[in-house]
Amino acid sequence: MSPPQLESALQERFPGCMAGRTMYAVPFSMGPLGSPLARTGLQLTDSPYVVASMRIMTRVAPPRDLPDLATGDFVQCLHSVGRPLPLTGKPQPLVSHWPCDPARTLVAHEPDRRRIVSFGSGYGGNSLLGKKCFALRIASRLARDQGWLAEHMLILGVTDPAGTKRYVAAAFPSACGKTNLAMMTPALPGWRVQCVGDDIAWMKFDDEGRLRAINPESGFFGVAPGTSEKTNPMAMATIRANTIFTNVGQSSDGGVYWEGIDQSLPPGTTFTSWLGQPWTPGDPQPCAHPNSRFCAPARQCPIMDPDWEDPRGVPIDAIIFGGRRPHGVPLVYEAFDWRHGVFVGSAMRSEATAAAEHKGRRLMHDPFAMRPFFGYNAGHYLAHWLSLGYRRGLRLPRIFHVNWFLRDPSSGDFLWPGFGHNARVLAWICGRVAGEDSAVATPVGLVPREEALDLGGLPGVSYQKLFAISKSFWEQEVKELRSYYLENFGEDLPKDIMEELEALERRVKKM
Ligand code: GDP
Ligand code: MN
Repeated sequence: MSPPQLESALQERFPGCMAGRTMYAVPFSMGPLGSPLARTGLQLTDSPYVVASMRIMTRVAPPRDLPDLATGDFVQCLHSVGRPLPLTGKPQPLVSHWPCDPARTLVAHEPDRRRIVSFGSGYGGNSLLGKKCFALRIASRLARDQGWLAEHMLILGVTDPAGTKRYVAAAFPSACGKTNLAMMTPALPGWRVQCVGDDIAWMKFDDEGRLRAINPESGFFGVAPGTSEKTNPMAMATIRANTIFTNVGQSSDGGVYWEGIDQSLPPGTTFTSWLGQPWTPGDPQPCAHPNSRFCAPARQCPIMDPDWEDPRGVPIDAIIFGGRRPHGVPLVYEAFDWRHGVFVGSAMRSEATAAAEHKGRRLMHDPFAMRPFFGYNAGHYLAHWLSLGYRRGLRLPRIFHVNWFLRDPSSGDFLWPGFGHNARVLAWICGRVAGEDSAVATPVGLVPREEALDLGGLPGVSYQKLFAISKSFWEQEVKELRSYYLENFGEDLPKDIMEELEALERRVKKM
């Protein structure tokens, strides 16, 4: 909406909206205090739940420790649940004690004023304004203006059996495995993964031309259902204390409960659903909301990287893109060069899941996993990434694309065991970064030579199926991408991206 429209929308909503509630002022840093990569924010809110969550997800600090507050160099974050007290019953009675005003919810970003205004919602990224609103939408704009990158990426450190350590950053759309990969327990003996962040990376090239990354957050706001000792033991250890659970179920022993928690409970345990109703295993409705969350301090994760709060950031050697592609896209491939890598990021697509914001199993375009989070023109965003490839003196990370979600067309089963076994792919990526001659070119990109990817001890996993590249599939993909670019980017699509699409088309044609 136009700025005058926004101004009148705010005037309709904000005056008097906090009446009867306490207004909190929350000064915070995104990133380690004093880091040159960190940025300051100040959130006003009338929700104590938001205050408690912000104390976990961001570094809340007294104003004297945040010098940018005094100079005005901070992001203004204004939030109200939009339900003054006493409740009038209008606009509608509260559901499950959540004060909110869904019909009039407004979450607005004003990049020029470095301001975020959020009304009517008390949950997730709508209300914890340091996360998606600041660290991605506003920060991506600051980053473009100031020559850095604000990305929807996890950051992890991976150490090989000989002790060589590399850091990688990976962009996957929501619900495509960022938190799981960031806290992974490798299924390859001798390998080690350590976590720097599971959702957002702020990155800048340093004076030596190395890309350095910090995690601007200090907590995890993860999806609860499916989290168990088996799937993510590190997350389970992280959420044992000092954790805020939202919209999960409860067990009568005082514990939390969700689908897939996979815990044995004493006979006679009873459950209460996220809606506060009695619930029994086997009920048609889930006990926990499918998007229910845990909010826990990062320092409680047993495998936090020793340098996760290093104010200089950690050096990034590889950038990985990925998504849910049931067919056609190989397990892993490497981009030919930086420009091709930026194209690969712009061409990301993923099957939407229930936990993401779209219903059904449609393939959604999601360039750089940033579609919901671009803080400015997405064509200009691609141009910003491309421009790094033309800057001199940079040690550009290599760029890869992964797909853990290939399915057998006949059975529908996953072709790849995923989770800890994804370390096998990380191992190949580390080899490539080290200069190993372990790849073979396909029209799509560089894939591992058959003997270069460790598939030992994985009966039934077929290299041929994981790396099959079909001419008709990629012809269709090129067609789909072209119309997506034309419809969504139009004249703002950088010429380099169209040239990469045409180059892919030519390579596929020759197959
Ligand atoms: P995030 O939203 O990107 O952080 O994604 P999560 O790590 O929370 O994972 C989202 C969903 O993907 C969960 O249901 C996970 O169990 C599932 N998932 C994560 N990694 C893998 C994998 O390697 N293979 C498969 N099949 N599923 C995965
Ligand atoms: Mn996550």
